[in-house]
Amino acid sequence: MSRRPIIAGNWKMHNNRAQSEELICGIKDAIKDIDKDLLPEVVVAPVFTSLDIVSKNISDCACGKIQLAAQNCYFEPKGAFTGEISIDMIKDFDAKFIIIGHSERRQIFGESDELINKKAIAIIEAGLTPIICCGETLEQRELGVTDSHIASQIVKALENVKPADVANVVIAYEPIWAIGTGKTCDSVEANRVIKVIRTTLAQIAGKDNADKVRILYGGSVKPETIKEQMAQSDIDGALVGGASLKADSFAQIIKGAMK
Ligand code: PEP
Repeated sequence: MSRRPIIAGNWKMHNNRAQSEELICGIKDAIKDIDKDLLPEVVVAPVFTSLDIVSKNISDCACGKIQLAAQNCYFEPKGAFTGEISIDMIKDFDAKFIIIGHSERRQIFGESDELINKKAIAIIEAGLTPIICCGETLEQRELGVTDSHIASQIVKALENVKPADVANVVIAYEPIWAIGTGKTCDSVEANRVIKVIRTTLAQIAGKDNADKVRILYGGSVKPETIKEQMAQSDIDGALVGGASLKADSFAQIIKGAMK
């Protein structure tokens, strides 16, 4: 099964409009001479306030080399939800992806599996693609419950999602202890957990659909680690935090994931 790799940059709460424009222009420039068919699908997720400026800058990017993602959304279409942003509002900027279930949202903002499931369903209904994050804490890893925890996160995130729709979601396996710490998860181990995710997806949606799902690794991905990660059988790309904030390092990661 050949799955087109994705390299997605999660800019988190960094970059005002001017800084976002500078970064997206740097990324565009770094990949301008590369044929689109050789590139992985490149995705950037700026803060909400930079969605418009980044959207404008990538709309002229020949043949859609860069896609836009939001870092979060609310599942209701509109109403008295102060501080939240609906999926339709995100669609205004021509975003194609929305990251949900990031460990920072689960841990700092208390987001539950149930809420993440509601967001996943609403995103799919709106015709966008959720990038659903999952991952274990160091404590869970040391207790030996990594696999059961990840499987449970996946099952709960995808409850009541049709099998054919499961095929189109993107999953990011992000061990929490590897995020922003500089400690990358060993590639063979990351691949093993990603296979657990694929087996879980097969139980939910059947093997054919599970084989289509792109599953990314995230957690201190760097230009020096990407080739080994991409060489694994089930790692279909990366969700990149810190190293996506510099055009040069993000471009090196993109190039490291090229066919
Ligand atoms: C992330 O926040 O999704 C992430 C993987 O961050 P970092 O690459 O900085 O570890």
